[in-house]
Amino acid sequence: MEELLAASAETAMNEICRRAIREGASDIHIEPGRNDVRVRFRRDGLLEERFLLPKHMAEKLSVRCKVMGRMNVAETRVPQDGSTLFSDGDGEYDLRLSVLPSIYGETIVVRILSGQVDFIERHQLGMLPVQESLFLRCLEGRSGLILTTGPTGSGKTSTLYTALKLLNRPEVNIISVEDPVEYRIGGITQVAVNEKAGLTFASGLRALVRQDPDILMIGEIRDRETAEMAVHAALTGHLVLSSLHTNNASQAPLRLMDMGVPAYLLAAALSLVISQRLVRCLCPHCRRQEGSYFQADGCEYCDGTGRRGRTGIFELLEVTGAVREQIRHTAPPSELHRSMKESGQPDMAEAARTAAEEGRIAASDAAWIAGEAEENAGGS
Ligand SMILES: [Zn+2]
Repeated sequence: MEELLAASAETAMNEICRRAIREGASDIHIEPGRNDVRVRFRRDGLLEERFLLPKHMAEKLSVRCKVMGRMNVAETRVPQDGSTLFSDGDGEYDLRLSVLPSIYGETIVVRILSGQVDFIERHQLGMLPVQESLFLRCLEGRSGLILTTGPTGSGKTSTLYTALKLLNRPEVNIISVEDPVEYRIGGITQVAVNEKAGLTFASGLRALVRQDPDILMIGEIRDRETAEMAVHAALTGHLVLSSLHTNNASQAPLRLMDMGVPAYLLAAALSLVISQRLVRCLCPHCRRQEGSYFQADGCEYCDGTGRRGRTGIFELLEVTGAVREQIRHTAPPSELHRSMKESGQPDMAEAARTAAEEGRIAASDAAWIAGEAEENAGGS
């Protein structure tokens, strides 16, 4: 803190970024107020206050941020954004910077895009053994469409990156089109969507297919054109990975049909639909068993919160035999859900309950997931 006060804006900004990276934060918020500048870090999805800096630092920090992000330094009245690569000893981090004029000065938000490195490197998504073996088996397929689904912030991208890391071998050509590229993987050709320059998911994908890929990753299917191309690529000998914004696995086929993909093509192309949520883990240092579940009251290791890190909770719908027929006949999601359970795969609510019984997550979080799953099923 003292060193931050005495430092130049450049040193202070570097130190703030370095600390955020070391603490595993995903975002830095620098917010000028009436009397001071508040610095908060987002970690495991939650904002935490880190420093209060003197008011006079606000302008210097916003100038420094604009220099880092190659923005117009003289402009203070309109929002701006930029990006930079930041080196911190053991790694290079992609920082997305944005400044927004507010009444007490410019608010700065820095997104640390390689922040999920640990999550991906450890291969610890949080799948149950029966889910992980199905996931790995489907990745071995030479063609077909694998989808991850869930709301924003449910960890879909981390799952896709984990899959790519598992598939990354010298003998296969892997190409991705993403918006933005959040995590760089050596040996994979990654293309960033640039709507302003006319490079959309659809146009990027069209170009990608001409580059003789074995495996394609499409960050997200948002429109009919992208959906059709993903299905076509999956049917012509490519393994295609993508994400879709739906609440659960059994709703995904219908969502793609709503976008205009014919049921018979989808039935032939789909191989696996994953749905997921991200939940905070119980702190492994202070959790203790109470009945069939666990409690954590907080300790030094978890800053007194009882939670440390996050885990994914999953459900996996494998598209084979019966499910394929159901999709071909546009069966309602409830029937796909029943087939999933009959195949021995737990649904989201069961997976959450198991995670709570193992002490990975709190019983209250498991109950929340189960309630949400029931609500989503009712709405389908
Ligand atoms: Zn603890």
